[in-house]
Amino acid sequence: MATMKDFRGDQPTWCPGCGHFSVMAGVQKAAVDLGMEPHDIAIISGIGCSGKISEYTRAYGFHTLHGRSLPIAQGAAIGNKDVKVIAAGGDGDGYGIGVGHFVHAVRRNVNMTYIVMDNNIYGLTKGQTSPTSAQGFKTKSSPKGSVESPVHPLETALVNGVTFLAQGFSGDIKGLNEIMKAALQHKGFALVNVYSPCVTFNKVNTYDYYKENLVDVSSFENYDPTDRMQAIQKVRETNGLITGILFKEDRPTFQELTPDFPEIAITKQDLSLDVSILEEIE
Ligand code: SF4
Ligand code: MG
Repeated sequence: MATMKDFRGDQPTWCPGCGHFSVMAGVQKAAVDLGMEPHDIAIISGIGCSGKISEYTRAYGFHTLHGRSLPIAQGAAIGNKDVKVIAAGGDGDGYGIGVGHFVHAVRRNVNMTYIVMDNNIYGLTKGQTSPTSAQGFKTKSSPKGSVESPVHPLETALVNGVTFLAQGFSGDIKGLNEIMKAALQHKGFALVNVYSPCVTFNKVNTYDYYKENLVDVSSFENYDPTDRMQAIQKVRETNGLITGILFKEDRPTFQELTPDFPEIAITKQDLSLDVSILEEIE
């Protein structure tokens, strides 16, 4: 049976204290707890600090283009039903340039998991205002404060028919692990948004800020995670500062609704590099 060590890939170069360490540990621990092996998983990541997760985790992986992890991940999930596909990226990647893919992936309900490491800033490019930065948020790209209203990913996912929605926080590893396990087991498109602080460039949305302001869904009396309207209401009431498994629904997946869709099993032979062309150049 695989251990955490088996999932360890390249040595991470994230800044010490970066929230993404916890997210990666949460995913790897969930995989171990569920008895998965590295070859059971494919991590398809976008561009940003968060996108490095596909290199830092030992599994099948593809570090794709900015905002384009979801189309590739959906294709991989449809093409090989035996592998659990996890798309991963940041708020800029997924809710900025990738937001069109996000909405359509949500409504398509492909059986896969999407993890967004949301730090309310563009970290890799050294600190610009992102789609989830609050109005008034000051960075070098908005020195007088952002004038735009932020994207609301949880509400967007809920109104577009997401079948599993959870939000975690990098300061709560135990909670993250539980959420990841549930997401990986969900049949359908599972969105896990994680508040994952950028300790280097975001001095507003810090660990302390989230510890003070986050409310866990378990604190609400009679919360029903199968009630979409209640989930929308609680997300709005808390201004998105809510953690836990917020919503889940059992609905046929894209794969179930398209049984004739060709499954392309990639074999080792397909992946072997054809070097004959290189030899010809030499
Ligand atoms: Fe993490 Fe921010 Fe450093 Fe990127 S710049 S590794 S998001 S702390
Ligand atoms: Mg970001």
